[in-house]
Amino acid sequence: MAQLLDGKTLARRLNQGRVRPAAAELSRPPGLAVVLVGSDAASQVYVGKKTRVAERMGFHHRQITRPAETTQDELLAIVRSLNEDAAIDGILVQLPLPKHIDEQTVLDTIEPTKDVDGFHPVNSGLLSQGRARFVACTPKGCMVLLREAGVELSGKDAVVIGRSNIVGRPMAQLLEQANCTVTVCHSRTRGLEEKVRAADVLVVAIGRPRQVPGDWIKPGAVVVDVGINRLDDGTLCGDVDFETAVERAGWITPVPGGVGPMTIAMLMANTLESAQRRQRPPSRGT
Ligand code: NAD
Repeated sequence: MAQLLDGKTLARRLNQGRVRPAAAELSRPPGLAVVLVGSDAASQVYVGKKTRVAERMGFHHRQITRPAETTQDELLAIVRSLNEDAAIDGILVQLPLPKHIDEQTVLDTIEPTKDVDGFHPVNSGLLSQGRARFVACTPKGCMVLLREAGVELSGKDAVVIGRSNIVGRPMAQLLEQANCTVTVCHSRTRGLEEKVRAADVLVVAIGRPRQVPGDWIKPGAVVVDVGINRLDDGTLCGDVDFETAVERAGWITPVPGGVGPMTIAMLMANTLESAQRRQRPPSRGT
């Protein structure tokens, strides 16, 4: 029976024990702006959670909500004004955006030093070179969860299923930088089962309920399930079949209560870090 990687408890500990006290020491509170365009139900839930936690951390927070008909130019104008706003240290544009808006153009417009989601090409480029500034919150949260549980990664065979810019790709880079040997799988991968069976560390970010059956899991493996899927009965489940996987894995994240709360905790940590950097007097040359 696997031990649980309890993201909910760890996120609370990091938020209350580290972020909140450090935020209180600053001359002005860290400022987080969250921009939501349209009325996607899941996005509304995520944005609500992020602003509630920011409130609890004592952050200055602003939620900017615009209708689905908002034009790309209007959204870019909002982002540019937040780039210039001295009270704002972190800008997050909630994805997905309505189809008529080009997501990449919007993400590219966020000032990289305020890009607390880590999606700007400057930040993903720095990560790929192993000198990260802001790391995308979900993969960063997975790594912190593994580190705090004392999971040894060096030399392990890791499999990441999913290659999105926001989860799979940065996750694979972080695991490689932690000295894992990483295989990235995706929708065109052949022989997925065989690859999963060989994984000491398995991270799944597909977005389909229970795609990975428990009997694929290598006994004792570490399983991080990033997926959040809402079933017809309203309950949430991951991309891994938890009930069977928990019997074989050594460690496993529950859904909910695993990666999700860690993502939000890392958003708070990144915003705090941005505020600390911004409030530090610039170093003087001699
Ligand atoms: P995405 O749709 O951008 O990417 C999905 C990836 O899965 C793609 O790379 C695709 O190639 C791969 N894939 C699809 N079908 C596959 C299959 N049958 N076999 C193997 N690979 C397959 O999704 P994303 O934004 O990376 O998110 C993935 C999941 O993680 C979603 O469920 C999302 O809700 C969840 N998510 C959770 C958090 C969190 O905080 N827990 C944060 C972000 C995303």
